[in-house]
Amino acid sequence: MTKEEALLHYFGHDRFRVGQEQVIDVLLEGRSALALFPTGGGKSLCYQLPALLLDGLTLVVSPLIALMKDQVETLTARSIAAARLDSTLEGEEVSRIYSEMEQGTLKLLYVAPERLANDGFLRRLRRCRIDLLAVDEAHCISEWGHNFRPDYLKLAQLARDLEVPRVLALTATATPRVAEQIRERFSIREEDHIQTGFSRPNLRFSITAAGTPSEREDLLGDRILAHGEDSPAIVYVTLQQTAERVAGALKAKGIAARAYHAGMRDDHRAEVQDGFMSGSIPVVVATIAFGMGVDKSDIRQVYHYNLPKSLENYVQESGRAGRDGDPSTCEILASADDLTVLENFIFGDTPSSTAIKSLVEHVLLQGERFSISRYDLSISRDMRPSVVTTALTYLELEEVIVPQGPFYAGYRVQLLRDLEDVLAGHSPGRQHFLKQLLASGKEGRKWITLDIAQSAYEIGEEEDRIRKAIGYLADMGDAIVQPSGLRHAYRLTQGHPHTVATLTEMLTSRFEEREAGEIERLRKVVQLCEADQCIPVQLLHYFGEQGENCGECSVCQNEGKGISLPGGQRQAIDLDAVEVIRNWHEKAHPALRQPRQLARFLCGLSSPATTRARLQRDEDFGFLAEVPFMDVLEQIETL
Ligand code: ADP
Repeated sequence: MTKEEALLHYFGHDRFRVGQEQVIDVLLEGRSALALFPTGGGKSLCYQLPALLLDGLTLVVSPLIALMKDQVETLTARSIAAARLDSTLEGEEVSRIYSEMEQGTLKLLYVAPERLANDGFLRRLRRCRIDLLAVDEAHCISEWGHNFRPDYLKLAQLARDLEVPRVLALTATATPRVAEQIRERFSIREEDHIQTGFSRPNLRFSITAAGTPSEREDLLGDRILAHGEDSPAIVYVTLQQTAERVAGALKAKGIAARAYHAGMRDDHRAEVQDGFMSGSIPVVVATIAFGMGVDKSDIRQVYHYNLPKSLENYVQESGRAGRDGDPSTCEILASADDLTVLENFIFGDTPSSTAIKSLVEHVLLQGERFSISRYDLSISRDMRPSVVTTALTYLELEEVIVPQGPFYAGYRVQLLRDLEDVLAGHSPGRQHFLKQLLASGKEGRKWITLDIAQSAYEIGEEEDRIRKAIGYLADMGDAIVQPSGLRHAYRLTQGHPHTVATLTEMLTSRFEEREAGEIERLRKVVQLCEADQCIPVQLLHYFGEQGENCGECSVCQNEGKGISLPGGQRQAIDLDAVEVIRNWHEKAHPALRQPRQLARFLCGLSSPATTRARLQRDEDFGFLAEVPFMDVLEQIETL
């Protein structure tokens, strides 16, 4: 079958979109490629079609589970042998997929990057023939990218290990520097980097100075009403409480707006998303969590009530407007007042070198083979789980530790019958064993949580016998059993050249570089607002393209003049604040002992320790949210 025939036969399209054929040709000639197309540009076809023409398996790595699910459903509906492996699948389904892999009947397999740390899965992959590795959201591989995911760094190594003959890296947002890094990591020739224009002539961009919240709400209300109530709109905000407040303000102006953010119940979120898709909810005021899986082509307006955190984010978020090609508007209501909150988020995520050192020590003190719970480490070192994962990956990249895959250390067991009934019918010896076993767990309201290693030690039994007994309870319908206590196994490399001190320094500087990169990205957003240059042209330049003045954006319409951002008075630390800081310092709350912890708390940035200690409810949480994080930190450190 030719590629044109495959396009029509499998996908029902009669011609390729810009760039698609070029990418597919490079792959079919046996080389790797980078496809840099805007969102909606048709990237997926660039690996789906070759997958059908190549003999072996195409492995697709994507961090977006919702997207994977949609794609696999669409492909299977077209009778294409595609599957996805994720944590929601039952054992039976997984073994079916594994056997299809082994028989070579599966054409496309979608996995999340975490899956590639799983030893068992890798062993199976090694046994099958992989003809193409497609890496979605490939900018995640770059520290210079806006969404660095350290597990992506391992993909290039994996492609070599598995001897994959070609790789397709795909992304919608990469600056020239990021693109270069992607090419380098996957050995992609410069001429096999295929980039289609990012220009979106149907989008009209504007940036409007808007200082106070009420000013912004009024502007927003006027704009939306002028478009007509039923014209679909997304309003992006930074904080959850802003989403609620702005949705309320719009409602008061007679606009059917709803909030959407990660703090809402799942069913409420789904209701808002469904309502937006079907058109019954025209306006959604959302944090950036909204939009990932929203494939709605007739969004007419995208507003940024708060400044976006990077131009990459801006292009992605504003790019959701007008996917059908009809005229649409994208507007930023710009104020420098937003900067402190955005910067504080960035600073708040950088772990202290004390926390890093303690984590490094913990790892180096382990035996040759060990396992850790990222969750426990996150709590005990008070770093967000994603930060712990990043730190561990840095250690992997230095080859200090080698991952051996995740596993569950225990079970949660819920008895479905009285214990007496469950035990009846067993021999006295076995009754005694089961009683002891269940008593060795932690008893909650409904569930008993068992740590297998600990139970085995306490009751002096083999772990294997315990696992079998629990399996038996489930098989007999006596109990619901769920795996729990996710741990990651590692091997500590012997004879590596590092010490606690050198590793702490290395990790600390990596985290600092990351922080500096994020701050720089935010500065580019301010430049976008203030520069005297056509907005689309600025965006194109940032992504390494040239363009002509659009003549329509707010800068072009204003004789080429940008705005000057209103607001931005940095709040200073006054005497009251000093008093509050001193009080907390003296209190020496266990969750706030480190200066960075206290600074986060006062700036309203939550962390595992503050969450556990329910400190978010304290009236001083976020007391200094408007003050720059570094100023607060400095003040604490002088005490
Ligand atoms: P991206 O991943 O680049 O955001 P998708 O791969 O999701 O974009 O494609 C966007 C839409 O374009 C999909 O609905 C897809 O079916 C459609 N599409 C892709 N290629 C073609 C083509 N050659 N002709 C017509 N429609 C296409």
